[in-house]
Amino acid sequence: MITEVETFHLREAELMGSALFHPHLFQLLSLSFQPLPKGTLIDPMPPTYLCQRCTACCRWPGFVRVTQEEIQEIASFLKMDEDLFIQDYTRLRPNRGGLALIDQENGACFFLSGNDCSIQAVKPQQCKDFPNSWNFPGWRDLCKAIELPVRDTA
Ligand code: SF4
Ligand code: SF4
Repeated sequence: MITEVETFHLREAELMGSALFHPHLFQLLSLSFQPLPKGTLIDPMPPTYLCQRCTACCRWPGFVRVTQEEIQEIASFLKMDEDLFIQDYTRLRPNRGGLALIDQENGACFFLSGNDCSIQAVKPQQCKDFPNSWNFPGWRDLCKAIELPVRDTA
């Protein structure tokens, strides 16, 4: 059961567009700073999923967001000039909301090489965060990540 306080924070996080607002952190913050009404029920910690590197999320249609810092990191990893990297390997996101990595002709991310990410060491936060910090309805049918057992901290 999600309390009203938690719902508020969740909505706030959504408004901020924060993919970093991890549910565990969210629940801890709620518990630390918001006095909950007596008798309020809190759900157990949400499950955490372990990626199986099936690369489905590198193949489905969409935009892989990259920030300026990530562009610097990837360009440096590839030993490329940053402006050249932007010119050759990024595109504008819809509504000009920033940059995303380009795709291959088949729609997969340009940096997918076989079944590996060729920029694994510096892949964007959006890639690191799926599916634990963001996902979408139906993601479970597409992603092979394994649900980890919830640790008993008592
Ligand atoms: S779809 Fe899921 S299991 Fe497959 S690579 Fe992406 S996060 Fe990992
Ligand atoms: S950057 Fe790497 S992990 Fe992210 S979508 Fe592209 S190939 Fe996949």
